[in-house]
Amino acid sequence: MTEPEERVQRASGERVAPPPKRTGLVIVNTGNGKGKTTAALGLAFRALGHRMRVVMIQFIKGQWTPGEIKAASRLAPELEVHALGDGFTWVTKNPEQDRATTRKIWELASEKILSGAYDLVILDEANVAMKHGYLDPMEVIEVLGRRGPLVHVVLTGRGAPPEIVEFADLVSEIQAVKHPYKQGVRAQKGIEF
Ligand code: ATP
Ligand code: MG
Repeated sequence: MTEPEERVQRASGERVAPPPKRTGLVIVNTGNGKGKTTAALGLAFRALGHRMRVVMIQFIKGQWTPGEIKAASRLAPELEVHALGDGFTWVTKNPEQDRATTRKIWELASEKILSGAYDLVILDEANVAMKHGYLDPMEVIEVLGRRGPLVHVVLTGRGAPPEIVEFADLVSEIQAVKHPYKQGVRAQKGIEF
């Protein structure tokens, strides 16, 4: 039972229990601008500073090994990174294979979310997997709903489905204002990967 002094007064005059000081959040980083994955990594770095346990699961594996994969071993065991995607495919020649790969990655992701072994779970580019129809947003929501009360989950990627946006606690949409790609600058290590 909440003690009366722990209650807060609403504008209506109604006294209600205050929101909990710590609560696991569902965070979505979406939009067409650069910074969704790197913002999630920034959060990971911040959480690691508090000795929180962090796992990042990447749904899409690019052409180059990203710096975060190379750095992860130095921050292990508090940080784990799994890159299980099998290529830059997506708008691909082989949707059946992408569907099967996504299923495998989602199985690992849901196991991690429900394991109780992590404080922060990052599902990098999961929004894109859902946008392409390879992962059902309702299935993701069902698993998120069963996670521990203090587990934070971040979903990154363009085109977050409306069901996910609705379910999330924190949604940021990064807008593209300028990108050097338009000036012909190619992807650079440390910046893009
Ligand atoms: P980052 O990993 O740098 O935080 P991101 O996660 O926001 O980027 P993604 O949608 O995952 O971006 O795209 C992956 C790659 O595309 C990154 O290398 C990124 O630099 C590049 N990129 C992101 N936004 C743009 C854009 N508006 N125009 C061109 N390239 C972009
Ligand atoms: Mg990204």
